[in-house]
Amino acid sequence: MFALVFYLSDLELKFFYNKEFFMSILDWIEQQRKLKLLNTPKYNHPASDGSQGLWTRCDNCGVILYIKHLKKNQRVCFGCGYHLQMNSHERIEQLIDAGTWRPLNEILSPCDPLEFQDQKAYTDRLKDAQEKTSLQDGVQTGTGMLDGIPVALGVMDFNFMGGSMGSVVGEKITRLIEYATVEGLTLLIVCASGGARMQEGILSLMQMAKISAALDVYQSSANLLYIAILTSPTTGGVTASFAMLGDLIIAEPKALIGFAGRRVIEQTLQEQLPDDFQTSEYLLKHGLLDFIVPRCFLKQALSETITLYQQAPFKETGSMPDIFPRMNFLMEEQLRREFSTK
Ligand SMILES: [Zn+2]
Repeated sequence: MFALVFYLSDLELKFFYNKEFFMSILDWIEQQRKLKLLNTPKYNHPASDGSQGLWTRCDNCGVILYIKHLKKNQRVCFGCGYHLQMNSHERIEQLIDAGTWRPLNEILSPCDPLEFQDQKAYTDRLKDAQEKTSLQDGVQTGTGMLDGIPVALGVMDFNFMGGSMGSVVGEKITRLIEYATVEGLTLLIVCASGGARMQEGILSLMQMAKISAALDVYQSSANLLYIAILTSPTTGGVTASFAMLGDLIIAEPKALIGFAGRRVIEQTLQEQLPDDFQTSEYLLKHGLLDFIVPRCFLKQALSETITLYQQAPFKETGSMPDIFPRMNFLMEEQLRREFSTK
């Protein structure tokens, strides 16, 4: 009996010893796991535009697409041929001959005249967008060669605050138009925008009139060619001004083009709208567009159109009305280019 008690207590001792031993190993493993978690760098979620991740999803058919292959295919879906959004850098690469792009007014950057704040301050939104896109504002302007033909090109970037048109976007486009007028260049503007930038209020709305006035000089006084290229989405103040003022208006297939949103129109009119309402195909059918050109043929179509236009009569170059007697920024830009190429 005594021996049995001794034996049991020995077993118990062994048991407790082992339990403590195992507990200490488990503790150690747990401790290591926590340390590892603390020391690993935090995972950054890819940006919603899909430019930083490996995979993205087609907005139209929902197929998962490998971004590297998608970029090689000019961001056209392999499944359904839908044209996904391109950023301004990719667009310039697509349209302009390699090594010939010369940007204009790159350093113009926006300020916050209304000290606007909603859930987030406008200055913070700007800073985030500038970091995300490495642009100062939502448009890139400049000159370059398109199949060896010199052109002035403006490309809006939807990734910068929805491509909204603030005072910098308006000013850069106006200066591009004036530069093209003086230099006698064909003007191309690739539109991708949600409309005027509400954070700048009336200052963004006045850009519509300013750009339209500059375009009138370009088209009516200098008789030069302006081609507007509408990509998805082109809406609001951009549609209501320069997007629809092109001598030729080209759109990409299935692009969303409109002024007010579909839901707003449906609620105002109390009417059911057709499924293809505000698509390129619908607008072409109703005479608002000249052609729909798939992305892979766009450069060729532009090059052929401009070549044909070069034979056109009544073209004048280098004329600007006297209301702009001293265009200091134009001279500045010419000087800057002269020195930067030396
Ligand atoms: Zn698709």
